[in-house]
Amino acid sequence: MENENEAVSRNFIEQYIDEDLKEGVYSSVCTRFPPEPNGYLHIGHAKSIILNSSLAEEYHGQFNLRFDDTNPTKEKSEFVESIKKDIAWLGADWKDHLYFASDYFGTMYEAAVGLIRAGRAFVCDLSADEIREYRGTLTEPGKESPYRNRPIAENLDLFTRMKNGEFEDGSRVLRAKIDMASPNINMRDPVIYRIAHMTHQRTGDQWCIYPMYDFAHPIEDAIEGVTHSICTLEFEDHRPLYDWVVRETSKFMNFKSRPRQIEFAKLYLTNVVTGKRYIKRLVEDGTVDGWDDPRLVTIAALRRRGYTPESIRKFVELVGVSKANSSVDYAMLEYCIRDDLKQKVPRMMAVLDPIRLVIDNYPEDSVEYLEVPNNKDNPELGSRRVPFGRELYIEREDFMENPPRKYFRMFPGNEVRLMNAYFVRCTSCEKDADGRVTVVHGTYDPASRGGESPDGRKVKGTIHWVAAKTGKSAPVRLYENLIDEEKGVYNEDGTMNINPDSLEIREHAVMEPALFDAEPGESFQFVRTGFFSADPKLSKKGAPVFGRIVSLKSSFRLPGAK
Ligand code: ATP
Ligand code: MG
Repeated sequence: MENENEAVSRNFIEQYIDEDLKEGVYSSVCTRFPPEPNGYLHIGHAKSIILNSSLAEEYHGQFNLRFDDTNPTKEKSEFVESIKKDIAWLGADWKDHLYFASDYFGTMYEAAVGLIRAGRAFVCDLSADEIREYRGTLTEPGKESPYRNRPIAENLDLFTRMKNGEFEDGSRVLRAKIDMASPNINMRDPVIYRIAHMTHQRTGDQWCIYPMYDFAHPIEDAIEGVTHSICTLEFEDHRPLYDWVVRETSKFMNFKSRPRQIEFAKLYLTNVVTGKRYIKRLVEDGTVDGWDDPRLVTIAALRRRGYTPESIRKFVELVGVSKANSSVDYAMLEYCIRDDLKQKVPRMMAVLDPIRLVIDNYPEDSVEYLEVPNNKDNPELGSRRVPFGRELYIEREDFMENPPRKYFRMFPGNEVRLMNAYFVRCTSCEKDADGRVTVVHGTYDPASRGGESPDGRKVKGTIHWVAAKTGKSAPVRLYENLIDEEKGVYNEDGTMNINPDSLEIREHAVMEPALFDAEPGESFQFVRTGFFSADPKLSKKGAPVFGRIVSLKSSFRLPGAK
């Protein structure tokens, strides 16, 4: 699937950057990831992080992590820490370029004063509702504020007094003086500062006026020397304002760069909840067990589930960058983790829904050890000794008393292979009073040790097993989509279609002893049932709790693959 033309096929962002460098607009490249610390990062953010940091790497430039903490209401330091951890885990390195937008409040204030002096900003006393009314619509121009032509000296005085806390929240704002007749509503004298008597988590009560995003963001970029400010498509209509702020403030401010905004389409996945707002709702209403619940697609959840940074990078690379919004099939993310783990992790045996199998012609009390490769596609992982005995566990679904056609597993009279062990012919079963099968009986062929018969006879079914005497029981958690796929993510009233069966716990799964040495966070393939990871939050050394990362099979195919 490697694209042979990779060296020449460059995405549209790379093409813009190439041009800028060629034309001498910039001599080096600086990108940034600007999260607002009001929640945990999710898979969509991973795309932006990987995109920005990879571009910096590709062009031997700089990648900044900047917390966009200009909004004092909902930001928390818990989120700052989780965001740093997630970005580092993804392998994006901001080196010593860690910044907080709130550190620039002084510079932003200075830039605002500069605009007032230049006659490019004014203090407006209209209420929020009036400002909205005056703004006009897509088809009608706006109306100028009666305060628009206030003398510069009066504006300077009022803005200073806004900063000094003389006025109530909402009583006045600072607006850029641009063009009330602009076809772009963002350019109709946008508000750039508001009064908010709120305590900020980093600057405390030092400020009671806070800059609006559209004013703050370009200035943050320009202060840091960001060259390419890459953001998502919903900011496309804001670009003229971004450019205006950079141009007008650069006339008197001494910024490191004149950044350029480039938009790309957000990453959406089918049938999962990606918006921070919606994830927050699921966390707060207790539908899930915290921000790292393995059914979510936050980075913390993916990590806990057993996703690797490599698999997420691969996913982002496969998705690519585009200018058109679309949803990516969740199965593609699953494809990426399967592909990453299949060579990397040992293949072990665990029985999720156990039923006993007794091999009647096997000596009682004898245990033998079979040497089994840990991953036959990766000899570097070595081998282990797996105990085998007269009593085993197999999956309940691997036995049927009266099977349908094409069922090749255990049924009376049929011979199957016990994986890595022997051929076993099923002879009978025992049932309880309700008719439920309790024990399966069979006989083995000692000559088929290792799983092949010397006389060359074939069996169609191979099943996995765990020796009863040495096997141990541990809970296994199976996850399904949190969202009911059939119904779509959201109802008309905005509520979500939660799948009530998104978590199933198999309390009595049994597994071979080696799995009990799993470190919390360690991953394995359980043959025939999927990739599993010892949940780092629920497991203890010697007492693992496994969660399924992904099952083995999928209908997903890479484009062009057979
Ligand atoms: P959400 O839409 O989930 O609420 P957000 O955009 O409010 O996220 P921020 O912390 O403001 O979250 O975003 C930080 C950066 O991540 C921004 O540059 C934003 O454009 C980018 N980003 C957010 N969501 C996605 C996504 N789904 N795909 C790609 N980039 C995204
Ligand atoms: Mg946001």
